Amino acid sequence: MPGFELFGDLERKHVNDVLESGVLMRYGFDGMRNGHWKAVELEKAISERMQVKHTQLVSSGTSALTIALASAGIGAGDEVIMPTFTFVASFESIIALGAVPVLVDIDDTLTLDPEKVEEAITPKTKVVMPVHMCGSMAQLKELKAICEQHDLLLLEDACQAIGGSYDGKPLGSYGDLGCFSFDYVKTITCGEGGAIITNNETYATHADHYSDHGHDHVGKDRGAETHPFLGYNFRISELNAAVGLAQISRLDDFLAIQKKNYTILREALIDIQGVTMRRVPDEGEENYSFLTFFLPDEETARNTHKALGKNGVDGCFYWFDNNWHYVKKWDHLKNKTSLGKLPEEVLNGLPDYHSKDFSQSDYWLGRAVCVLIKLGWTEEETKARATKIKEVVQSVKSITLG
Ligand SMILES: *Cc1c(COP(=O)(O)O)cnc(C)c1O
Repeated sequence: MPGFELFGDLERKHVNDVLESGVLMRYGFDGMRNGHWKAVELEKAISERMQVKHTQLVSSGTSALTIALASAGIGAGDEVIMPTFTFVASFESIIALGAVPVLVDIDDTLTLDPEKVEEAITPKTKVVMPVHMCGSMAQLKELKAICEQHDLLLLEDACQAIGGSYDGKPLGSYGDLGCFSFDYVKTITCGEGGAIITNNETYATHADHYSDHGHDHVGKDRGAETHPFLGYNFRISELNAAVGLAQISRLDDFLAIQKKNYTILREALIDIQGVTMRRVPDEGEENYSFLTFFLPDEETARNTHKALGKNGVDGCFYWFDNNWHYVKKWDHLKNKTSLGKLPEEVLNGLPDYHSKDFSQSDYWLGRAVCVLIKLGWTEEETKARATKIKEVVQSVKSITLG
């Protein structure tokens, strides 16, 4: 997954353009910047690659999610449906607005189960936020139908799946709004950064203003701009955007390498008895940043993950026990632990996540082992890795299952 593996001359060139002009800010200073507008150029490049009308570049993927919600008018007490398996940013970005994260089970796609989404809808529900975890995607057609029927917004968190597609459309562009992260470990990186994409002009204008203190960006004098509504500072710097401008031009090369390496690993594992692959919706193409497979039960999966580590296979994850990515370990959310007092709407609206039954999510994630796909592996290394993983999986299975 990580674009940082291939950081090179093009990244350095764009960063040097910025350093030589000294204009580190994305707005203003027109005369000093030697014609360099890295954030603007990166927004254009993202819009083109993702086939959307508007892109707003911001400081992180987390802020992108908050801004996307804010742009669509989501606020205190509104309910946002999100999956139990994701990154903590999902509920952080919702709570930041005083809105309420409503956690819903995943299925064998390891993303939102559409039936469970439908069951979770209340009069307060405003948004369904699927998360395309580990390179593969949610069942977008089913989710869109539910959203249309109940007049809800579909917001795609595509932070881990940039470059994947669904029904021929780039992930992030299928819903009303989509978000990307360009943090250091994502498929392409800015160091830190994120983006919101949409075809909705109103949301795009809101995102533009909201991410920069509500500035209306009319005219050339920042001091003279008006503020149609309250905002915040979620700007990206020109230095970060410069790195991203280089990386986006290499995205399709990165994806091709990932697909090649992924395919070698998948072909080695697919025939092992008792091993099944994570389900990818028929309409979808992954971005191939991870390969995820199921073992017959939780104990075998946990033992397999341990054995992979012991045998020197790095970059393998057992998300079920992970502190960041699964509801089981989100004690700070369950206990509503915050520095200051949370808004009443959040305190009163949050379901009791200590007692909520997520056994369906436990069933799927408890059996899943996930392997990171790296860009730097040679074909030989990838094949050796595939053989090693296969050996480890087979040996653990025969011990556990007798
Ligand atoms: C990385 C990530 C985010 C947040 O992105 P940052 O840029 O690190 O704030 C949000 N959602 C998912 C699924 C992510 O993996």
